[in-house]
Amino acid sequence: MISLVLQGAAGRMGRTVLETAAAAPGFKIKGCVDRVLPPWSQGDGRAWGTELGRFVGRGDVVVDFSVPEAAVEAARCCAGVGAALVSGTTSLVAEQEEAMRVAGRTVAVLHSSNFSLGVAALRGALKAVLPGIPDWDIEIVERHHRDKADSPSGTALQLAREAAQCRGYDPGALRHGRQGRLGRRPAAEIGVHALRGGSWVGDHTVILAGPGESIELRHVAQDRTAFARGALAAAGFVVNAAPGLYTLDHVLSAAVR
Ligand code: NAD
Repeated sequence: MISLVLQGAAGRMGRTVLETAAAAPGFKIKGCVDRVLPPWSQGDGRAWGTELGRFVGRGDVVVDFSVPEAAVEAARCCAGVGAALVSGTTSLVAEQEEAMRVAGRTVAVLHSSNFSLGVAALRGALKAVLPGIPDWDIEIVERHHRDKADSPSGTALQLAREAAQCRGYDPGALRHGRQGRLGRRPAAEIGVHALRGGSWVGDHTVILAGPGESIELRHVAQDRTAFARGALAAAGFVVNAAPGLYTLDHVLSAAVR
C-alpha cells in the first residue's frame, strides 16, 4: 500500500488523481493539500489542509499538480522529511528545475510535463521519423482548455526541444507564433502554436512538412485519467527508487524490463 499526499488536490488534475487513486488498488490518500479548500472538502472523509508541511510526513510520496512555486516548495518539504515526489506541474523556469535537481540529491523526485503513455509513444515516433526527413519543416500545434495558465504547454515545449536536439538546432530555434512580414521560414526553426478555448483536455500535433507531402503525428487526451494513471505509476516507481531526478521515461523503461 503506497501512502500519498496530494498537492493541488482541489484542482482539475488533483481531483482526477483522487478519483483514480480511490479506484486503483494499492494507494491510500493520507492528505489533500490546496491553497484554497473547496467547500466539498468538508465531509469528504479525507484529511484536507492548506499547508503541505502538516501532511508531508504522513505519505511515502507527494503527488503535485499545482503551480511552479508550490512544486518547488513540495520538493523542499519532501527532501526535508525523506518523502518521494511526483510532480506534473508545468512551466518550471530554470531555477525551479534546479530546485527539483537539488531535492533529487536527497530523495527520489520525478517530474514530467506529461504523464500519458500516448504522449510518450508520440515522442518516440517523432524521434524515429526525423532522421529519414532531415530537411522537412517542423511545426507543433497544441490545444488546451480556456483556463490553462501557461502557453505553450510543457508537452509542446518538450516535443520542440527534443526535435531541435535530434536536428542539432540551436535551443533558440523555437518560434512561438508568427505575425507580420517575416519572409521565408528559416530552415532551422520549429514553430510552436498554442490554441486556447473551451474544454480541450490536451491535444498535440507535430506537423512535418516536406516538398509536396507532409506527415502529422497527433495525440489527443480525451480525459485527465490518462495523466492520473501515469502519475500513479510514477508514484509506484519512486517509492522504491534511490534518490535522484527521474522522468516518465524511467518508469516506462522499468515497466518493459
Ligand atoms: P488547476 O488550476 O485546476 O489546479 C491547480 C490547483 O493548485 C488549484 O486547486 C490551486 O488552488 C492549487 N494551488 C495553487 N497554488 C497552490 C499552492 N501554493 N499550494 C497548494 N495548492 C496550490 O490546474 P490543473 O489543470 O489541475 O493543472 C495543474 C498543473 O498540472 C498545471 O501546471 C498543468 O499544466 C499541469 N498538468 C500536467 C499534466 C501532466 O501530465 N504532467 C497534465 C495536466 C495538467
